[in-house]
Amino acid sequence: MYPKIILRPGKEESLKRFHPWVFSGAIANVQGGRLQEGDKAEVHSSQGEFLGIGHTQVGSIAVRILSFVPDVIDKDFYRRRIRKALALRRNLNLIRPDNDTFRLIHGEGDFLPGLVVDIYGNTAVMQAHSPGMHLDRQLIADAIMKECSDFIGNIYYKSENTLPFKADLEPEDGYLTGREHEERPMAMENGLRFYPDWMEGQKTGFFVDQRENRALVERYSAKKRVLNMFCYTGGFSLYALRAGAKKVVSVDSSEKAIGLTRQNVTLNFGEKAPHQAVACDAFDYLREKGKDFDLVILDPPAFAKHHDALRQALQGYRKLNAIAFKNMAPGGILFTFSCSQAVSRQDFRLAVFSAAAQSGRDVRILHQLSQPADHPVNIYHPEGEYLKGLVLAVE
Ligand code: SAH
Repeated sequence: MYPKIILRPGKEESLKRFHPWVFSGAIANVQGGRLQEGDKAEVHSSQGEFLGIGHTQVGSIAVRILSFVPDVIDKDFYRRRIRKALALRRNLNLIRPDNDTFRLIHGEGDFLPGLVVDIYGNTAVMQAHSPGMHLDRQLIADAIMKECSDFIGNIYYKSENTLPFKADLEPEDGYLTGREHEERPMAMENGLRFYPDWMEGQKTGFFVDQRENRALVERYSAKKRVLNMFCYTGGFSLYALRAGAKKVVSVDSSEKAIGLTRQNVTLNFGEKAPHQAVACDAFDYLREKGKDFDLVILDPPAFAKHHDALRQALQGYRKLNAIAFKNMAPGGILFTFSCSQAVSRQDFRLAVFSAAAQSGRDVRILHQLSQPADHPVNIYHPEGEYLKGLVLAVE
């Protein structure tokens, strides 16, 4: 019932290993209709063998596979996928009175390439990264409402910045179901409260992917002087304060992020918390004040958004970490992260290694960190792995 994309001979191998992307160069021709951006299509080998059904797209990734078996991509399909994703989060015990913040759908990791859904209390924030998911947004919203009816009341769609602009889809951010809260929405992560800002904030309004790593910061922060660089809304700072840190300084170049960090700290610990939030450049602050801290967190934005920018990104990580090694007090602990998908775990470690060697200090790896379980990596799609971190003892 869907148009058929026929692959060139030999181009079916990756699909047979369940990798969910078809590159445009693999396609021989299309049968049974003309494809428009975001349409669904079946993919067949040159021998006529069925390989999968997916969303089509103009660009180097031409199809994102939704199913490797014959199926109809309708509301029931999305309900089945969402049910499976929700069952995993329940299994992981992420939905609790003290934790209502988690990722429900992590693209390929939940067998829905191009779709991200984050949950903040009774609101689901949905992000389409492919035209196909954009076109199916209402079906998906209906499916979420059905499967998550016991806790979701609103669905906010936020795709103005995530869809390929060349696709001319003109997405509008806004509520697909429910409406703006009368009171300012609040959410909870591991017992800590915060204001997620899905309408104005970065990503879906909060960085859900650092939950486990923040908990590790909490373990080491008691009585320490903690520096949270690139703090955004202050996630790491809240955990350090709860641990009983002597003082916590949060730094971000965005005034708005600093404002939100202050509000989140006050929300949990009142006005008198030993916390200071500074709007300035992280590189400058680290150079000047790095020596005053026992535990430093470096969680910069993705330095490489594309593979082309890889070399420059590695230099960025090397430079940032070199400043930390040069300035940190002896006996300090450094949490250092990269969220660039294009930078591999090995590349990142090499960049940090170069920075350490440059400083000549003794540096030991204490932990190797990753993204949490609600950001699962489909084993057939290693590109889904993006967050990596090292916890280092710096002598
Ligand atoms: N650690 C955060 C997420 C970091 S996102 C959390 O747990 O939620 C990256 C942040 O880096 C953004 O808020 C951005 O404003 C900030 N940023 C980017 N360049 C910066 C710079 N040169 N100095 C300080 N902050 C910067």
